[in-house]
Amino acid sequence: MFAIFEQLKGKLIVSCQAFPGDPLENTDAIRRIALAAVGGGAAGLRLNSAEHIAAIRQHTNLPIIGIQKHYGSAGLRITSDFAAASSLAAAGASIIALDCTDRVWPDGEPWQELIQRIHKELRVPVMADISTLDEALSAAASGADCVGTTLNGYTERTRNNHGFSWTLLRQMAQQLHVPIMAEGHISTPEEARGAIDGGAWCVIVGSAITRPGEIATKYVHALEQSASSVPAVGVDIGGTSIKAGLVERSGEVRFPAQVPTEAAKGRDAIAAGLVQAVEQVLAAARGQHIEPVGLGIATAGAVDQRDGSIFAATDNLPGWAGFQLRAFAEEHFHLPTFTVNDAQAAVLSELHFGLGRGLSDFVALTIGTGIGGGIVSGGKLQRGQHGFAGSIGHSVIRAGGRPCNCGRNGCLESYVSTAALLREYLENGGAAPEDAMDDAALALRINQLARQGDAAAQKAYASLQGYLAEGIANLFNLIDPQAVLLAGGLIENLPQFIPDLEIQVTNLLHSGAKRQPRLRAAKAGRFAGLQGAAALLFESGSYSGSTIAVSRNHLCRVAFSSRKGHPQ
Ligand SMILES: [Zn+2]
Repeated sequence: MFAIFEQLKGKLIVSCQAFPGDPLENTDAIRRIALAAVGGGAAGLRLNSAEHIAAIRQHTNLPIIGIQKHYGSAGLRITSDFAAASSLAAAGASIIALDCTDRVWPDGEPWQELIQRIHKELRVPVMADISTLDEALSAAASGADCVGTTLNGYTERTRNNHGFSWTLLRQMAQQLHVPIMAEGHISTPEEARGAIDGGAWCVIVGSAITRPGEIATKYVHALEQSASSVPAVGVDIGGTSIKAGLVERSGEVRFPAQVPTEAAKGRDAIAAGLVQAVEQVLAAARGQHIEPVGLGIATAGAVDQRDGSIFAATDNLPGWAGFQLRAFAEEHFHLPTFTVNDAQAAVLSELHFGLGRGLSDFVALTIGTGIGGGIVSGGKLQRGQHGFAGSIGHSVIRAGGRPCNCGRNGCLESYVSTAALLREYLENGGAAPEDAMDDAALALRINQLARQGDAAAQKAYASLQGYLAEGIANLFNLIDPQAVLLAGGLIENLPQFIPDLEIQVTNLLHSGAKRQPRLRAAKAGRFAGLQGAAALLFESGSYSGSTIAVSRNHLCRVAFSSRKGHPQ
């Protein structure tokens, strides 16, 4: 390794450049900015053009990374030929940075050859500016002496990345054996520190230090955004996918992201999926100068509200139980975080954005592979000590009945679920499925058959309805809510299902006709879980004392990351 890298280990390099047309686009202005940064303790500089390097080299012996920007027919490229590299070296550059992306490059020389020539003829190290992990690996394999994340967010393949990619840094740190320069979108000292902790050799900061125009814009945007309107990031961790999005105060979901839940690979893989989905949303939000107020995470399993950990998980998420979910997310994203069970989150979504608005006491149930639910009382979701409140699926409707995965017999969800519907359908003479389909797909098929008048399907639904009526009658006796809201693909598109169910519940209740239990189809929607989780941030800290303080602090501290301009 070149000795110069030892000098830069763990240090700050300041990139001093100006946009074309910027009032600071002037050699003497850049020289003064660079010397001010050196005075402030910068261990190195990154400069554009031989002219700037020569002007500043007279005043400092610190390492200078030299680049020559070319605005060609294929857009902006960094140091695209050997002539440019030699003039940078002649002017005093200690390291030459090259564009080593896999973009088509009609105007320049292949970067693989440039690396060889720079080593052989100029005898200076080469920094590869890349945008993806593949490019980083390829550049290192071709002899680049260090690799920078500089162009992530600036190429066609990465143009949706609007913030620093912590995922890319982590992957590079795991797979590269040359120094990694964290560069691009680093806009706070905390992020710089985080990059070193995340495996970067050194950190290069440009706009956040050297472009007063961009810095002023951040302040202007912060003043324009009122704290009470700041959105939150919502996440929904399910057995098959992890969904995330930026949730506005109206419930509107923007920048939706979805990644598969690699549940079979265990806890770390699920957490990695969470990070990936949230980073996508954060990058998109920050690209539009939006700093979310915090993070709300809905997850399958029971969530212990005292510390935000997973108290118990379902078989869908092996190894998830015991995971310190809230602590993990707060440490990773530096955002106040709330965690909640996914069925309870769906209830919060109804409370804030759906049919629950205007209701103070209601129960919402989601019927699927089991029955998830939640109880709102006095306008507040009841979560219970360990997150089990509202586990209505595990109320027994048949003593000694069908076995349930909770260990008891006769639970409501042993009689009302996708698997139970299939069982009723077959017992009523329905034809066994020909193809291998999962329970959810089969339930949708039976739903369709019921609508078409198939006798076995209709009988299956009638049985299901009878069992569900008993479970819901128990709820009305226990809580006496204003309404019970029902969701789930199983009962969709069957317009008579809920009205008929309401009659059955009425008949089961003492003074039922006078009480008139109200059952309604919930608004739900595919984002209900993440909307409800985000709503926890909007409730201004109803649940945990310690987190309230963080939330309020963050509400007052609306910060913004770097404006998306040109790579430095
Ligand atoms: Zn049970």
